[in-house]
Amino acid sequence: MGISHSTIAFHAQHCDGCGDCMSACAQAKSGTADLVHSRLQIIGGSAGIPAELAICRQCGDPKCVMNCPAAALAKNDDNGVIDWDGSLCVNCLLCTVGCVYAGISHNAALGHVAKCDLCDGDPACVKACPHGALEFNRTAEIYNQYGAEEDLFVAGLSACQGCNSELMIRHSLRRIGDNVVVAAPPGCIPGMGTVGYNGRTGAKVPIFHPLLTNTASMLAGIKRQYNRVGRDVTMVALAGDGGAGDVGFQSLSGAAERGEQILFIVVDNEGYMNTGMQSSGCTSFGSWTSTTPVGSSAKGKPTDSKNLPLIMMMHNCAYVATASLAFMDDYYDKLNKALAATQHGFAYLHIYSPCPTGWRIPAEKTIEACRKGVETNFAPLWEFAPETGLRFTHPIDKPLALASYIGLMGKYRHLEAHQTEHLQKVVDERLRVLRGFQRVTDDASHQAS
Ligand code: SF4
Ligand code: SF4
Repeated sequence: MGISHSTIAFHAQHCDGCGDCMSACAQAKSGTADLVHSRLQIIGGSAGIPAELAICRQCGDPKCVMNCPAAALAKNDDNGVIDWDGSLCVNCLLCTVGCVYAGISHNAALGHVAKCDLCDGDPACVKACPHGALEFNRTAEIYNQYGAEEDLFVAGLSACQGCNSELMIRHSLRRIGDNVVVAAPPGCIPGMGTVGYNGRTGAKVPIFHPLLTNTASMLAGIKRQYNRVGRDVTMVALAGDGGAGDVGFQSLSGAAERGEQILFIVVDNEGYMNTGMQSSGCTSFGSWTSTTPVGSSAKGKPTDSKNLPLIMMMHNCAYVATASLAFMDDYYDKLNKALAATQHGFAYLHIYSPCPTGWRIPAEKTIEACRKGVETNFAPLWEFAPETGLRFTHPIDKPLALASYIGLMGKYRHLEAHQTEHLQKVVDERLRVLRGFQRVTDDASHQAS
């Protein structure tokens, strides 16, 4: 298995062209604010002109390296950076011709080419961006750390095309490992073959099929028995939002309140999708489902969804977080914290999970829906632990318009203007509540310091 490397990602929609990144780079590389020394260039970003970024992408198959006749450029396999060696460079500028990203250019003040070196893995430009438009993407670390671990779900899957639950199962089990007992109550996940078809199971770990109503209590009992015989085995639930937030809520709430040592993962696809797309308590306002139809006298779900992760936070669990599989490094980070929390209490992960079949999304757009759910603040990413309080893990200060998210899916196609306004109001109100909790966290850490 090869090594993968972190990169700088650019979210053009968040960039307003302020240039703070360029100033920070110039300062980091030359000790001056002279932008001629910046190794990245932002063009546009204001006056309606879309922002564009020129920076070295540290390509895996770098054309600048191939173009260089003097071997002055070379890919560093340890950190992924394309290193430039001034003692070999003959100033021919052929590298600048080879790079389609304008990632290496002639610095007139220095008299030779200059390029991004990722600041030894701590990019000054990323830290300086006030809008989160630059992101040091560490997803590669997941690959390096866990890529060699066994995939604990068999090849092939009977899920709907484009369902992101497969990603969740494979990544979660790979990280959690085989010292585990998994409970998969009725829903899409057992439907994918985790628990079994015709006497065969898709999971390579002990897994069972509880009732919708008793998932958390069954896991609690098994965990207590393992503790009694002195074995440290991880208990994991892979449940849908119906099995967690509706009929399964009593046992979930009880286990959380008692601090049972369980990791409860909820795949929230806003409904009972495997049984015919019925509405659940987590179905959002206005959604079409088979039990909240659209016609002359009905326009989708008439009530708001319940905010299940927030309800779980109010149980004061050892760890609670929301996640989206479009932000995999964030998910792994939360998975690690949740597993650590099960050593002493109850951990809850709420994965926001667009359903291509039930939500009427083209299969190739589900990850885009995951991403836009976060970037519109429809599904904000946050975490909570009693000792640290609530904090946003991917704050979105300049959200995309809600239309860019709801426009992706057919279940909202019928929405009238007043319904869209109501949905936006719900998004704003929930964000206001979360920010209130974050303020409490900030005040507490301020007082402590
Ligand atoms: S300018 Fe220097 S680094 Fe670029 S191609 Fe020429 S010799 Fe190589
Ligand atoms: S990572 Fe460092 S060298 Fe590269 S553009 Fe950002 S500040 Fe400049």
